[in-house]
Amino acid sequence: MSALINLLYILSSILFIFGIKKLGSAETARRGNAMSSVGMTLAIVATLLYLGLEWWMVLTGMAIGSAIGYVAATRVAMTGMPEMVALFNGFGGLASLLVGGAEFVKLRVGGIAHYLEALKAQSGVTVPAWFALVAIGLTILVGGITFTGSMIAYGKLSGKLGGKPTLFPGQKLINFLIMAIALIGIALMVIGGDGPTALSAGIVLVVLSLMIGVLMTIPIGGGDMPVVISLLNSLSGVAAALAGFIILNNVLVVAGCLVGASGIILTVIMCKAMNRTLGNVLFGGFGASAQAGGAVEGEMKAASTEDAYYVLEAAQSVVFIPGYGMAVAQAQHAVKELAALLENNGAEVRFAIHPVAGRMPGHMNVLLAEADVPYEQLQEMDQVNAVMPSVDVAIVIGANDVVNPAAMNDPASPIYGMPIIHAHEARTVYCLKRGKGTGFSGLENALFFGENTRMLYGDAKQTITDLVAQFKE
Ligand code: NDP
Repeated sequence: MSALINLLYILSSILFIFGIKKLGSAETARRGNAMSSVGMTLAIVATLLYLGLEWWMVLTGMAIGSAIGYVAATRVAMTGMPEMVALFNGFGGLASLLVGGAEFVKLRVGGIAHYLEALKAQSGVTVPAWFALVAIGLTILVGGITFTGSMIAYGKLSGKLGGKPTLFPGQKLINFLIMAIALIGIALMVIGGDGPTALSAGIVLVVLSLMIGVLMTIPIGGGDMPVVISLLNSLSGVAAALAGFIILNNVLVVAGCLVGASGIILTVIMCKAMNRTLGNVLFGGFGASAQAGGAVEGEMKAASTEDAYYVLEAAQSVVFIPGYGMAVAQAQHAVKELAALLENNGAEVRFAIHPVAGRMPGHMNVLLAEADVPYEQLQEMDQVNAVMPSVDVAIVIGANDVVNPAAMNDPASPIYGMPIIHAHEARTVYCLKRGKGTGFSGLENALFFGENTRMLYGDAKQTITDLVAQFKE
């Protein structure tokens, strides 16, 4: 039976790896998703083949989880996806924390020798006691951090908690000390084995890990959130892989490592997008800058869609710059229609994609792919910035922070140094937004006050639909 289970695990691991590879392009992404789902089904079936499982418990857990997951997935609005992803990361961490806790209890109730023997009987592998205890300790630590960190991220993304960083004196030192005590706790668990010191160390570790998650995430706000989201995503994978080491489950180790590794790659991409180093992120040096940034002088000049139509009608090159507001307005289909009309009219059309636009990594790519915008029209920030001075019209659709010139020219701004899309360099800029609302980082944006900028106020979908109607007249 053990050979069959491992064979199924290898198959599901292969399906996960090819599934992830296929997620790399819009054309193959659906197939990739389906492959990974088959892999997951195989992994679940193989796990159910383990002897000695309490079937009623497993099936009850699956039924409750599936029901909650189904209701959540069908009810969530497209704009609620980022918060939902944060919740999923958190529950992944919680699951690992519970596995770590349960195994620790098992180890203490039956004694360490008995625990290791049972592990060998189940997996055929002999592990030393220190290995089992380190794996348990690290799983509790990373699982706990991921759980509470993700809950805070959920609160910030959903607007239930303020998006601003929470800072207090000595914060970094306190974080460092708590982390150090947690690591000492793991060492005491290893030294103490199944004795009383280890029990106290284990309990303290659970509490500290939950605290670290909160303390690590509260100082981060505004434009730094994408880095945290991808880091927590990575940690949820690391926690799962560590849990796999405790119960010696191969597929859990492989799947956890895949999530951990892809999450860390994404974290590096996000760091680059925010112009921060990974060390900066890991050691809490980010989000610490005060929410300053000067108020912007001047006035925002409104235009009508008729005015915009005449300018667009004559444009040779147009760049769409989508942001979070496009997701809120669900304007992507209308945008695709306008882009096609502009192309038919002889204009060269591009979409400029900022890596942190929206509220989750790849947010704009997902929306535009859903509307079947050709992949070759999507351009990265550097590519599009190189041609921006020769662009006739930049249409900013509900983007704000990712086109804020303060990132380039205001050293007092918290987003100073973050690469942006140079919308302000286009000959004419139309900014579509509902009013004078700020972006996620709560900053004023000089782009909206620019000489060459005109505001098209209103819901972005309605504004684009009006423009489409004018082209069709
Ligand atoms: P922003 O959040 O900076 O700005 C969005 C703008 O959209 C607002 O100014 C708002 O103005 C406008 N808006 C909202 N609804 C509508 C609507 N229906 N129609 C038209 N406009 C609308 O978006 P960006 O994409 O530029 O920047 C993303 C920000 O989110 C960055 O700071 C990034 O760091 C952060 N972030 C990104 C994550 C990621 O992974 N991508 C994760 C977490 C945070 P108004 O109210 O006036 O309409």
